[in-house]
This record gives sequence, C-alpha cells and structure tokens, in this order.
Amino acid sequence: MENLDVNMLKKLSYGLFLLTSRNEGRDNGCIINVAAQVTTNPLQIVLAVNKGNLTHDMIVQSGLLNLSVLTTETTMDIFERFGFQSGRSVDKFEGLAEISRSKNGVFYLEKSVNGFLSGQVSRMLDLGTHTLFVADVTEAVTLSDQPSLTYAYYHEHIKSKPVAKATEGARWVCDVCGYVYEGDEVPDDFVCPWCGHGKSDFVRQ
Ligand code: FE
Repeated sequence: MENLDVNMLKKLSYGLFLLTSRNEGRDNGCIINVAAQVTTNPLQIVLAVNKGNLTHDMIVQSGLLNLSVLTTETTMDIFERFGFQSGRSVDKFEGLAEISRSKNGVFYLEKSVNGFLSGQVSRMLDLGTHTLFVADVTEAVTLSDQPSLTYAYYHEHIKSKPVAKATEGARWVCDVCGYVYEGDEVPDDFVCPWCGHGKSDFVRQ
C-alpha cells in the first residue's frame, strides 16, 4: 500500500499493565500494553487483549477484570511470570506473595504497581486477533507515587539485553523480550521461546 510506513506506528506511546481476571474459581493474568480511560461520566476504560491469552477467555466468560498499572520499578521476573508463559500450563500466581483481592474477588498486584482499576465488561468488539473490551470502572485504588511504566521505558531499561555476539553470521533479536536467534533467516513459523511472539517481531542486528 502506498505511503504506509508501519514503523511510524511505533511512535505511538503505550503503558504496560498487568491484566487479571477470575472465572469459576480460577485466577490468571497477562501483560497488555493497550488500555485507556475513554469517558469520565460514566467512568469507562477500553483494553485490547490478544485472543490467545487464557485471561482473554476468562474475561469474556466472567466479565470481571483488574488492571494493575506497572511502574518503572517493575523487574523482568514479572514479565517472565505473566508475559512469557501460559496460564494453561502453570499457575502464574504460585509463590507470589505481594497479591491481594479487590472487591470483585480478582487479584491485583501490590508491588511494582502504582494502583489498580477494577472493571465490569459492558461491551466487546471483535478485532480479529484481539478483542476490544469496554468496561465500567467499579473500583479505583492508588497504591504508590512511583511513575507509570511506558513501553518505551521497558525497551530501554528493563528487557533483557542481547548477549555479546559469540559466533559469526546473522543474528536476530526479539524486539519484545531480547531473545537472540542466530541464523541467516528467522523461519516463518518460528515462535520466540521466551515470549511467544513470532518472526515479525525479530529485528536483524
Ligand atoms: Fe521474545
């Protein structure tokens, strides 16, 4: 398509959030980067969630969610725990001490966040790979004064740095998590073993 510079979209700014839900006695959470307040009266937020996430299905079924706002203090283990593994195979909350339940019964994070919102889903829009959820805010709690984490700050300061080049030949770095693939070309069906993102997120170095 003419005049379509997809790199321009990287100039949009985003936050990073832990999105949690609870359904039929089960808890799960995932990391998302698209969430915003859209109206004040009534108080509504929107969030986009990849359909591949178990958390997505739990929100569809229960309509309940908590959005914890991550801060610049967040360490890589939070992203590894909630972003780089699936709730279908592990309990992402196991061994995590700093969690609590809000009034809707859903977990929120007490550490590495500056607050959380509880939402009740009112509308859903199918966007293909993602669902856009519209939710009424039912609880909003401030927990600290730490600055909110942006996606840009995560890339600059938090994600794993690629290790020094040890072999000859091309290397590709996952733009999401920093995993390094060595080889002339990333296979079309390659899935990043750390974060699960595909070939399109790998950048040649
Ligand atoms: Fe990755």
